[in-house]
Amino acid sequence: MRYISTRDNNTAVSSARAIELGLSRDGGLFVPETVPRLPAGAIGELCGMSYRQRAVYVMKLFLEDYSVAELTDFVTRAYGPRGFDTPHIAPVRKLDGNTHFLELWHGPTCAFKDMALQMLPHLLTAAVRKNGEERRVCILVATSGDTGKAALEGFADVEGTKICVFYPRDGVSDIQKLQMTSQSGGNVLVCAVNGNFDDAQTTVKEIFSDSALREELSGRGWMLSSANSINWGRLLPQIVYYISAYCDLLNEKEIGEGERVNFCVPTGNFGDILAGYYAREMGLPVKTLICASNSNDVLTEFLRTGRYDRRREFYTTISPSMDILVSSNLERLLYHLSGGDDGETAGYMEDLRTGGEYTVSPAIRACLDRLFAAGSCTDGETKAAIAKVFAEHGYLMDTHTAVAYGVLGKYRAETGDAAPAVVVSTASPYKFCAAVLEALGKTPEGAGPELIGQLERASGVPAPRPLTALMGKMPRFTGSFDKVELSGVVRGFLK
Ligand SMILES: *Cc1c(COP(=O)(O)O)cnc(C)c1O
Repeated sequence: MRYISTRDNNTAVSSARAIELGLSRDGGLFVPETVPRLPAGAIGELCGMSYRQRAVYVMKLFLEDYSVAELTDFVTRAYGPRGFDTPHIAPVRKLDGNTHFLELWHGPTCAFKDMALQMLPHLLTAAVRKNGEERRVCILVATSGDTGKAALEGFADVEGTKICVFYPRDGVSDIQKLQMTSQSGGNVLVCAVNGNFDDAQTTVKEIFSDSALREELSGRGWMLSSANSINWGRLLPQIVYYISAYCDLLNEKEIGEGERVNFCVPTGNFGDILAGYYAREMGLPVKTLICASNSNDVLTEFLRTGRYDRRREFYTTISPSMDILVSSNLERLLYHLSGGDDGETAGYMEDLRTGGEYTVSPAIRACLDRLFAAGSCTDGETKAAIAKVFAEHGYLMDTHTAVAYGVLGKYRAETGDAAPAVVVSTASPYKFCAAVLEALGKTPEGAGPELIGQLERASGVPAPRPLTALMGKMPRFTGSFDKVELSGVVRGFLK
């Protein structure tokens, strides 16, 4: 199966090439030429498998140039007991009659990005070998928090790679900062950038497009690559957990064979929910994909009206991983819903770049209405959802999960749709202690990892080990740099 650029149907590459390149040269994203269908009987077969076996089965359908033996090796290393605190990897927890949580935060950094970033290093290093590339790969990441740490954990001590993460000095939470600066591994570098997230991201983009620097590094045997969510190798592992959750519900007799299920997904860059769309296209009985936003509700407006308008106020919220106004993975959805029309897709993206908005065709609009619902929650509604679910069920949600739970409630009230629903739970509440404590009516005492103990006492829910292990840890990386210094930092790192 070939992968096509969303902006040029003539650009068609193998899966290994798509994963190595990340982004197509024309600025488009790679998508599978056709979405493979789950063969008849597949769901029954998958029900009898472990999460890792399900991952091999599903990924193999998309990756012709990887063998089953290779993928089996990768999932063993990516989803092993060293990284994940449960053999179920992505367990489904029942809240009540028809509401379930899909917990995606049992990995090493306690956020759902581990599901993909534990796998990507294996897919990427294999891709580089398959493509006959002899240089080693250095991953550059600009992060506003969760991605940086998850990428560090994924790439730490992976042979043939180095990873360098830039984060805004004053733009991440204390826990996120310590998670990154205390990272172990002989091939990692973590740098604070004097500036905000945009400064860090712009600089990384400049380094990528600095051809003199790339040539110099190439001469020393290094190529640069990226680990952000436009890479197909990050999207693919996410399709697995939708299918896995459905199998778990069947196994638990929560649903009947073929019964359709709603998924409600806290959304930022549209990667997670897009994986749900692919699962649906493969034939998984998904009814509606409910897209949940915080006050940055550009996607809610888009899915309801067909008009995307990024020209709006940006809010800093208690669910920071969803504070985003341009959701890059939406481009993939537009391409598919336009029937693979590269010109139409490129046109929308050009309108967005030049005018800050676009409006999709009536045909796409009709597809959106059929597949998606959308809603948003304010910070106040998010905290109220955390308090309510904890009071009624003793279940502690993080702020992102709580946005989705709140939106599911609104959706059910508006539509009367009582189908079984899975809320995709994307982070441990212990990553966002201050906001969760406030939601429970407590005043946070202290900062950073100090709050972990307070939240444990307030909730009686034990904190995940990777986060309690942060207490008392000393940072390894303490330097902070001005933007102009960063290319020199990369040069020094790849000596
Ligand atoms: C990244 C992230 C999201 C948003 O996921 P997208 O794939 O960007 O839509 C939601 N919740 C948490 C905790 C995240 O880290």
